[in-house]
Amino acid sequence: MAIHKGSSHKSKRGLETTSSELLVCLNGEFVPKSEAKISIFDHGLLYGDGVFEGIRSYNGLVFKLKEHLIRLKESAHTIMLKLPMSLDQMEETIIETLKRNRLRDAYVRVVVTRGEGDLGLDPDNCKSPNFFVITDKIVLYPESFYRNGMEIITVPTVRNLPEAINPALKTLNYLNNILAKIEAKNSNYKEALMLNHQGYVAECTGDNVFIVKNSIVQTPPTYLGALRGITRQAIMDVALRNDIPCQERILTRHDLYNADECFLTGTAAEVIPVVRIDGRQIGTGKPGKTTRKLMSAFHDLTRKDGVRYTL
Ligand code: PMP
Repeated sequence: MAIHKGSSHKSKRGLETTSSELLVCLNGEFVPKSEAKISIFDHGLLYGDGVFEGIRSYNGLVFKLKEHLIRLKESAHTIMLKLPMSLDQMEETIIETLKRNRLRDAYVRVVVTRGEGDLGLDPDNCKSPNFFVITDKIVLYPESFYRNGMEIITVPTVRNLPEAINPALKTLNYLNNILAKIEAKNSNYKEALMLNHQGYVAECTGDNVFIVKNSIVQTPPTYLGALRGITRQAIMDVALRNDIPCQERILTRHDLYNADECFLTGTAAEVIPVVRIDGRQIGTGKPGKTTRKLMSAFHDLTRKDGVRYTL
């Protein structure tokens, strides 16, 4: 790994830069954001052929780093993409990128593309994958959403069929989610509820969905067409540790409309209460007691569970 010490460093093109521009790690080399370039023949760009992860660090702790890297490895394995380095090396690269940017609280994007090829689909024509790590400040939903809850809407675009592109894979092919996001935004909502092809609740465009009914926390099984969210699993673990019953259950929109509470989970969003779906008020119309308890327990977990680094 080519490592440039200090804030002044030589970029690939030999330019000396002392700016505070974000440094990214591209194929093992640290370069300023504006100089990080890959080919327009990369199949990640041409076909969405690649995998990625969104990870988060809290006060110098990278939350569930190993779990994210395992998910990346599994997504890559399924699309027969060989990761360019070991998971341990990836972990080191991520930590080093955070340190270079002096970020204690950050969002980390790890991407592996199929690499540069020709205009055909054949992945075998791509010689080597491109790998990059971006660490940046995290942009959250407005604080009021966490305090008062948010409103979401069901959109016409259904989640990808597990038999086509399994939503369990975190690939660069996110158009299914983007179309749903556009539909939500066209109706002035920030997040979309996506059903699967059978009409069962799957997930949101970038978050998993939970309800609380009669004090039981419930979330759809991922085989119905949802990502196996790391935050989703963390919440299920936290619920069990706090003696809150939690189960995977097939859910319909009717179940959501008549839930006592609803919330979404994701690395960027964390745990966010939902108080209205398709115009129906959920429970009291305010973030529920169980949701607030889980939000607080999750917050505590992020302060102690993770891979530690010092700047
Ligand atoms: N579903 C989708 C479609 C996602 O993209 C994400 C990640 N943003 C999630 C769920 C939540 O997963 P995680 O908790 O691992 O971030």
